[in-house]
Amino acid sequence: MLVLVVNAGSSSLKYQLLNMDDESVLAKGNCDRIGIGGHVSHKTADGRTVDEDCSFPTHTEAFQKLVEVLTTGDAAVIKSMDEISAVGHRIVQGAEVFDRPCLVTPEIIDQIDELRELAPVHNHAHALALRACSAVIPATTPQVVVFDTAFHQTMPPKAYMFGLPYEDYETYHVRKYGFHGTSHRFVSAALAEAMGKDIKDLKIVSCHLGNGSSITAVDGGKCVDTSMGFTPLDGLLMGTRCGAVDPSAVTYVADKHGFTPDEMSQYMNKKSGFLGVSGVSSDNRDLTAAAAEGNDRAKLAGEMLAYEIQKYIGSYAAAMNGLDAVLFTGGIGENSWEVREAVCKNMSFFGIEIDEALNRSTRGELMKLSTADSKVEVWIVPTNEELLIARDTLALISK
Ligand code: AMP
Repeated sequence: MLVLVVNAGSSSLKYQLLNMDDESVLAKGNCDRIGIGGHVSHKTADGRTVDEDCSFPTHTEAFQKLVEVLTTGDAAVIKSMDEISAVGHRIVQGAEVFDRPCLVTPEIIDQIDELRELAPVHNHAHALALRACSAVIPATTPQVVVFDTAFHQTMPPKAYMFGLPYEDYETYHVRKYGFHGTSHRFVSAALAEAMGKDIKDLKIVSCHLGNGSSITAVDGGKCVDTSMGFTPLDGLLMGTRCGAVDPSAVTYVADKHGFTPDEMSQYMNKKSGFLGVSGVSSDNRDLTAAAAEGNDRAKLAGEMLAYEIQKYIGSYAAAMNGLDAVLFTGGIGENSWEVREAVCKNMSFFGIEIDEALNRSTRGELMKLSTADSKVEVWIVPTNEELLIARDTLALISK
């Protein structure tokens, strides 16, 4: 059974075509520069590629190109879209409306679009892509939406409420939603399997560290708290995002620079984080290289990240009243031994001990890093959000 997974942004349409009989990827690619030009890059599992400029005035033309490269030309992998059993879409914000994947209908698309105020960059683009997809693929092909926020809907109110007047929650839906939920769900389940334990018996801190980073406390398979908040700006220091700061510092800085709310939001989302603190780069590799060459601000950004992660691990161990395992995932979590080492040093109070040589030599693969004596297991667990979206899609259409 073939499932197409789509991850649409405002100007891009990333996709993967998976054969769910063996969960292999047949082809993947990206139709990007939507609205400002158009480009498709497409690669099949056996190495055939398409790389060309196109014209994508809207998501519809991008979807038509996606269908074209999948079904025709030298890098085609299917003859017709009828061979695809279903399409699964990643949706960033499901708010309190969606706590699980669901089948796409015109009403569901409208509901996703209505949540655009809570995720201005993402949800409207998702709705555009869903409408474009519905217009292009066969009407008989079911579509499923899988929400980044859904896994976090199990948080109790004490974890998701802010200390603002309650009316702001009731009227404007201001609360912590959390993001990266598909990743946290995938890796925590994969970790339980790797540990040979039932996830119901595990207390896990899941550290998804990438350009965007979030940490989630997973108790018995359920999210009980997470570091991202109302938007993906909260929590940890990220590539260009500041993470949590005193709200009074925000209003003070906006006032000093004469920023409007939108300008301040841009400042915190695009000019801050690793980039803002180091002045070097938003990319962890550049930061690590600059720190090694003696750049103090790059070193500081790295220290801030590791310290914040340590504090989250500690506070989530307290929140769950226990800790069985810490996992690292995402581009940084899977690949940067430096960040993992900096986090796991001085955590012996929590019973965390890692094999430093093993940590330094391991990249991007499922691996237990903790020593036999470590009271808490530490793992690298590669994430695969597309695969989970495809699994969810298949599960829903099989019902
Ligand atoms: P993601 O958003 O999950 O793709 O992660 C992107 C981040 O992962 C960037 O900050 C990269 O610098 C970092 N990253 C990717 N590969 C490596 C690597 N080999 N070593 C260290 N950091 C890496």
